[in-house]
Amino acid sequence: MIKVVKFGGSSLASAEQFMKVASIIKADEARRYVVPSAPGKRFSDDTKVTDMLYSCYDLAAKGKAFDEEFEQIKKRYYEIIEGLGMTLSLEDEFATIRACFIGKAGRDYAASRGEYLNGIVLANYLGYDFIDSADVIFFDDSGKFDSKRTYEVLSERLENSERAVVPGFYGSMPNDTIKTFSRGGSDVTGSIVAASCNADIYENWTDVSGFLIADPRIIDNPEPIKVITYKELRELAYMGATVLHEDAIFPVRKAGIPINIKNTNRPDDHGTMIVESTSQRPEYTITGIAGKKGFTSISIEKDMMNSELGFGRKVLEVFEKNGINFEHMPSGIDTMTVIVHQEEFEKAEQEVLAGIHRNCKPDSIVIETGLALIAIVGRGMRATRGTAGRIFSALAHARVNVNMIDQGSSELNIIVGVSEEDFDTAMKSIYDIFVTQKLS
Ligand code: ASP
Repeated sequence: MIKVVKFGGSSLASAEQFMKVASIIKADEARRYVVPSAPGKRFSDDTKVTDMLYSCYDLAAKGKAFDEEFEQIKKRYYEIIEGLGMTLSLEDEFATIRACFIGKAGRDYAASRGEYLNGIVLANYLGYDFIDSADVIFFDDSGKFDSKRTYEVLSERLENSERAVVPGFYGSMPNDTIKTFSRGGSDVTGSIVAASCNADIYENWTDVSGFLIADPRIIDNPEPIKVITYKELRELAYMGATVLHEDAIFPVRKAGIPINIKNTNRPDDHGTMIVESTSQRPEYTITGIAGKKGFTSISIEKDMMNSELGFGRKVLEVFEKNGINFEHMPSGIDTMTVIVHQEEFEKAEQEVLAGIHRNCKPDSIVIETGLALIAIVGRGMRATRGTAGRIFSALAHARVNVNMIDQGSSELNIIVGVSEEDFDTAMKSIYDIFVTQKLS
């Protein structure tokens, strides 16, 4: 059995956190490959080492003095090293990094040093091999992840190492410069490492015990999600629920490897299992609820719209030409509504309206802003009668007016549109009916 374990920045922010990480790793023989982030925040208004590196490099790139900022970064690592009672010196590494900053090696190079150095410290502390990600993770000329070359090189390298630390977040370009994934990208590295060694599971250790059914800023102490499918996760993530980098799903999903989100500070908690499919009945009818504010609806009315061939295409063409994505498109016999992101729409509002008038000759166009969308997601909904009914009666009870309803054809989700002022009340009433009252 092979487990790939990725630890996020807050899990490796201090010597104390390193000790927790080591005991988690040592508790299970199968935890053979470890992917660390750079040291993150130790307390809420602390600065992540990655951000310190970006600002320090920005000074260097402008030819300004950066010694003070550089010293602060060194201090973060030496505090960890000393706190662990190690004698490791990173002086040579820091000298190289300093010279590369002066030589303007790039922001990606600068940021990547956070995980690189943390990887060295962790490998030494655990007694594991250190594998520099620059030697095993590759991007192509256009900056896209080069999966073919990476898998070839990385799998062979891992086969030759019983236990290793592979730093997250970066790899190398064909010209040997360093490139990083987007922020939070150590999740992606973990997923790639797991796929490369055909791991049985990819454990992603962070500072929460997995995904929660709803946003804790709106619902008090929401229940955790024990098992979620990749599809459900995608629906919820799209609506703003985040714990994991979006690109971290693909490599493991393709290889059929489940992800377990775990909490470094509460290792005995079950966490969330993310799986391709499951026969396990979900605990509640719904798996999760997520929502976002900031949508606008454009309702177009025209007599006999239903018999006009190509009407929908003509409307959508206007949005496309103005570079606006549409989110949903509920329609009636003589009306259709296009729901878009307010921010995106505002920029080209008048062009879109003029375009619709020109292209489609509607009887009227009504714009409503301040719309919030809420996605109620769950594989359990298909097999349960009356889910939609329950949602709407809960909303009616809470005196929330529903502006839009959209049920995906997969029956995996129901999306409702409400006004932004009703957002919290709507979320609470839906959570309450399915989870607190446990009407499953
Ligand atoms: N250290 C990087 C960041 O802060 C990558 C990561 O932590 O996953 O974005």
